[in-house]
Amino acid sequence: MKSRWNDAEAANYTSDLQQRVYTSRLLGRDQELVMHGGGNTSVKITQENVFGEPEEILYVKGSGWDLATIEAPGFAPVRMDAMLRLAKLDELSDSEMANQLKCSMINASAPGPSVESILHAILPYTFVDHTHANALISVCNTPNGEEKVRDIFGDTVIMIPYIMPGFKLARYCADAYPAQVNANMVGMVLMNHGLFTFADTAKDAYEKMIDMTDRLEQYLMQHDAWQIAIPDIYANQESTDRRLELAQLRHDLSALAGKPMILRTDDSPHSLHFTNHPEVARISQQGTATPDHIIRTKRVPMIGRDLVAYQTAYEQYFAENDPLWPQDLTMLDPAPRVILDPELGMIAVGDSIKAANISRDIYGHTIDMILRAEKLDSFRSLSAAELFEVEYWELEQAKLKKGGSAPVLTGEVAVVTGAASGIGKACAETLLQRGAAVIGLDISASVTDVSSNAAYLGLVCDLTDEASIGAALEEGVKMFGGVDMVVLNAGIFPSSQQIKDLTTDAWRRSMDINLDANLFLMRALHPLLKLAPRGGKVAIIGTKNIPAPGPGAGAYSAAKAALNQLARVAAMEWAADGIRVNVVHPNGVFDTGIWTDEILQTRAEAYGLTTEQYKTRNLMGVEVTSYDVAAIVADLCGPNYAKTTGAQIPIDGGDNRVI
Ligand code: ZN
Repeated sequence: MKSRWNDAEAANYTSDLQQRVYTSRLLGRDQELVMHGGGNTSVKITQENVFGEPEEILYVKGSGWDLATIEAPGFAPVRMDAMLRLAKLDELSDSEMANQLKCSMINASAPGPSVESILHAILPYTFVDHTHANALISVCNTPNGEEKVRDIFGDTVIMIPYIMPGFKLARYCADAYPAQVNANMVGMVLMNHGLFTFADTAKDAYEKMIDMTDRLEQYLMQHDAWQIAIPDIYANQESTDRRLELAQLRHDLSALAGKPMILRTDDSPHSLHFTNHPEVARISQQGTATPDHIIRTKRVPMIGRDLVAYQTAYEQYFAENDPLWPQDLTMLDPAPRVILDPELGMIAVGDSIKAANISRDIYGHTIDMILRAEKLDSFRSLSAAELFEVEYWELEQAKLKKGGSAPVLTGEVAVVTGAASGIGKACAETLLQRGAAVIGLDISASVTDVSSNAAYLGLVCDLTDEASIGAALEEGVKMFGGVDMVVLNAGIFPSSQQIKDLTTDAWRRSMDINLDANLFLMRALHPLLKLAPRGGKVAIIGTKNIPAPGPGAGAYSAAKAALNQLARVAAMEWAADGIRVNVVHPNGVFDTGIWTDEILQTRAEAYGLTTEQYKTRNLMGVEVTSYDVAAIVADLCGPNYAKTTGAQIPIDGGDNRVI
């Protein structure tokens, strides 16, 4: 492990609090030290209070902030004297501790102080750093782990046995620190949990953390327990044609979880090596690497696809451990958050892609920690009872519940065609806002740039080519687990041609893109939509031209009318499969790429109108935008239309010929 300290960079951070920001970010950048909100740091600063008196304040990482990106407002300012008095109490429940931490802040709108605040306060140094270094976990999650840690550090560290984070741990350290401290002290080791280092400058505390971690890594290297060899057989072994198996798994797992879930497949050689490890059944079923992972990964992953067996085992684990705790606990859903399948690879599960990505990162590192511990000795985790205590800890439960109610389409996956621009882009953005993950398809390469949201996957796809559609769906399902809804939007509007002049090529092209491509997609998507946890949804972008055609648009209108008839048949054929098919008919949507100011002006002048009059040329005199269309599409895919299929909905401001 190398230090990332840079004198020139550090010079930009002038105050103690700024220095705290700087080294916190250095720690947060290294996934070998902390992952996804794990770890915490603090600095003690004496400042003047509102009464003009000097007061020592502990600036400690606030909840909801990640060390990698933390800023000064991410540190909660709490009064040191209150922290030190709390540390002397014999007992304090963790929820009362959390309350006291908040009440001790000097800024009511700061984030909640870390549950490890009291522990930071009792260490008598200006800067305190705390990480969950992976190398420590590989060393101490083995039989006689404590002896191994002693071999490395001798008496230069304070050793703390495993105690659940919270008041009990802080209370224990408040006694252990003065009892064990000596002149050679470099830091503190919390067994099965992490490292603490402390110093009077940000640089020293940080360098000590890097040094301790490096010594642990060196130890693993010396014992040939660092390099993990991945056999060549897993290179280029990416699974193909797995989308139906994945969608089936997602369907069944979502039923167990009680809501639609995202399943992200990782079939990298690293994952396949582990899922095919001859001892996977033993080494993966010990428990998590560190206890705080349990809310992201559950205690153990599911091996293979037997959800019933996993559910039974989870219910048994709950029944065995629930009576050990006085609180009245409600069982969490018994669905796995990590799946290890020899063929599919490692599958990370979450109620959003964000949650699934966190499970994936954590388990990806867990694989390394397990394999290193196995090379060193053998991997041991905490007992089921100790892990249960964290999984059902009142403060962890609060973390999960935080964030209010989720957007209505959370956990669902949409395919949007023609997503690079216009109505398709508006649909993709609107569905993302409503919580759905979106697979955007388009022939244009700009489809990949539609959104930077992690829930968006833009894929270049030729919709007239069935192989291209198959490859895109395969990739999308590997990313999200299935498909719940599709917006058939891609289309072309050929230049005006009277039938007597209509070329066969122009006719064919309109049929290929406006009609045939949609049949290919519907056919390919039907088995996936059938497995959508809340039922499949198809929304088709039609046109006013179907009920009210215009001269010169024969190729377009005929293709769209045929598509509309196909949709009506699909509504009948697919109703029994729980799939709803509805069509919206926009007209006069001018905020799309094809309608430049110049074209608009020319068209308006042809009718003797201003551009504004031309844009609102409908019964209601309103302008229809692509986002108006997208809002109806998203509504149709939501629960309010759960019992509507075969509907034809105009979105045109009212049109005499349609009404
Ligand atoms: Zn910790």
